[in-house]
Amino acid sequence: MSVFAGLIGQNHIIDQLTSAVSAAKSRTGSQAMTHSWLFVGPPGSGRSNAAVAFAAALVCKDDGCGSCVDCTTVISATHVDVERFNPSGLSIKAEEVRELIARSSWSPSVGGWRIVIIEDADRLTETAANALLKTIEEPESHTVWLLCAPTLSDVPVTIRSRCRHVQLRTPSTESVQDFLLNNTKVDKKTAEFAARISQGHIGRARFMATNSEAQSRRKEILSLAISLRDVDSCFKAAQRILDIAEEQAEGDNAERNAQELKQLQDAYQGTGRGMISGGAKAVKDLEKEQKSSATRAVRDNIDAALLDIATFYRDVLVMQSKGSEILNIDLQQEILNHSGTTSSKRTLEQIDAVLIARTNLGRNAAPLATLEALFCALK
Ligand SMILES: [Zn+2]
Repeated sequence: MSVFAGLIGQNHIIDQLTSAVSAAKSRTGSQAMTHSWLFVGPPGSGRSNAAVAFAAALVCKDDGCGSCVDCTTVISATHVDVERFNPSGLSIKAEEVRELIARSSWSPSVGGWRIVIIEDADRLTETAANALLKTIEEPESHTVWLLCAPTLSDVPVTIRSRCRHVQLRTPSTESVQDFLLNNTKVDKKTAEFAARISQGHIGRARFMATNSEAQSRRKEILSLAISLRDVDSCFKAAQRILDIAEEQAEGDNAERNAQELKQLQDAYQGTGRGMISGGAKAVKDLEKEQKSSATRAVRDNIDAALLDIATFYRDVLVMQSKGSEILNIDLQQEILNHSGTTSSKRTLEQIDAVLIARTNLGRNAAPLATLEALFCALK
């Protein structure tokens, strides 16, 4: 199956990418191929997957068959000529970009191309973006840069003006539902429920459909938001959401952190004083990196919780406007009750408050204070 078949609801970009692959292979100098690409699309639309599929098609002898060694190693991020850079911290630093640039100049080992994929290019710091600029402008003839970001405006204008843009769409609820039915063992009802509440976010839909802990976390988050009464309940709810986000991050990261530490100890042949020179510093650096990655995971989890809460108010607004297409189909009664107690003007204010809190979190505001302020504004 072609690597492009895995892109859900993105038929409009497949022509653009396959023409580029043909042009790249024929080496005719056709305008269809270029060296710097920017994949943009809302979270969960699969922008990184699209970049990975394109990279696989470029290095595969069969234009992205999906089953050869080249395709499978690109997809599993182990291909020697395709580097996938996925920042674990909140930002991508200039020194990280300089290392990527240095490696990108090496000649390809097996195929005709060396490809660098930068996921979350919106996390480039200003100096990192400047470091990348010249390389994007005058790339090596065998190097292709694939940057990914949520929107064009998330990437400095100097970078985005030098890239060809590939715009992904939010996949429809139906296409996400079909994807779940074809790729997981869930039943139709669960697939529909997960597709609806995740609003076109494929990864989240799959996670929600197949993970009962995620389902109960969502229920708890929504019931906290629904039951805000006084300042005391707001403060308690804020603390609880933060706790849930931290527990989830800890659970997700614990196994990976232990694995990374084990690999490092193997590399430095031991633990504590038994380590060979440089080991202690490497462990310290790793711990620092893991802490930064945990901070990011907590923020991402809080953001996901706020998105859930926003969908609740969105549904309330739909009912107040006499619509019927609600997302949280399992909470129909609660939404109906709530819609009768407030006005649509008030619901709009509540949706705004959630969006402001998300923006503030994105700007590194303290999570607990942001949640407390939000819940006081919602009650
Ligand atoms: Zn292949």
